Amino acid sequence: MTRAGIVTLVGKPNAGKSTLLNRLIGQKLSIVSPKPQSTRDRVVGILTRDDAQMMLLDTPGLLDPHYDLQRAMRAVSLAAIGDADVILHLVDATQPSFESLVAAAGLAAQPRAPIITAFNKVDRLLAEDLNLLRNEQPGASFISAANGDGIVKLLGRLTDSLPDSPFLYPVDDVSTQQVRYFAAELVRETALEQLDDEVPYSVAVGIEEFREDRTPVYIRAVVYVERESQKRIFVGSGGTKIRDIGRGARVKIEALIGSKVYLDLWVKVLPNWRKTPSALARLGYHVPQD
Ligand code: GDP
Ligand code: MG
Repeated sequence: MTRAGIVTLVGKPNAGKSTLLNRLIGQKLSIVSPKPQSTRDRVVGILTRDDAQMMLLDTPGLLDPHYDLQRAMRAVSLAAIGDADVILHLVDATQPSFESLVAAAGLAAQPRAPIITAFNKVDRLLAEDLNLLRNEQPGASFISAANGDGIVKLLGRLTDSLPDSPFLYPVDDVSTQQVRYFAAELVRETALEQLDDEVPYSVAVGIEEFREDRTPVYIRAVVYVERESQKRIFVGSGGTKIRDIGRGARVKIEALIGSKVYLDLWVKVLPNWRKTPSALARLGYHVPQD
């Protein structure tokens, strides 16, 4: 008998959700960045083991919603909690305080699905501090998404929480998402890496054309920023910055799809897109009405 179901990853920004997802899937699917709030969308990865298949949902950080983009992110997270067969609450073990998921996320009620709490980044704890934490939190898992410690044991616990079910996807699928979605995320990730001021959080990426029938594969990506000043920073003097970002992103996309890519990268100003419902909708974010 096999098991299958949805595992939803939740946790504060920077807890290591994307790093864990990438480790579990064994391939780079979800954007990983040292800056918080980098995951704006729900990324589905599929992990198939001998006896179990997990649909993994990564969630945006559960934040206080200050503007429409953050409200859209929170709604995505709450929906993923509702859909879960098991919830994996990831906590940064190096942070001093621990809150239950219900408290941390301000949930109205205890979720239907069981919650497994996993303390991440144990590679950064002293042995004695790790022992203290283990004693304080006997029901939790202790892992390092970065070096793999505790991951096999955690996978066993997750598998045991899934319902009996036949597999829901072909065993060699790694994701239900379109490759173009990941291409957009890789462009955004590269921009986050190469721009270190206020600009990155104002960046959204649209893939306007994706031609797999051409050699090299032709991809036209448009980076949207909110102000002319941000556009100037993104382009850099003589276009050097946008060229570097384009080159970095192209190499990552080539690794993802396994063939040569021509990345045609543009930057456009879409004023205040993070606060404009029509712009958010155009970029694929769904803002709840309330
Ligand atoms: P998310 O916001 O929850 O998706 O967090 P990310 O996966 O983007 O990780 C945030 C930061 O923590 C990145 O700099 C990661 O490299 C780092 N990180 C994640 N997991 C670990 C871990 O197990 N150990 C250490 N030392 N760093 C980690
Ligand atoms: Mg993330």
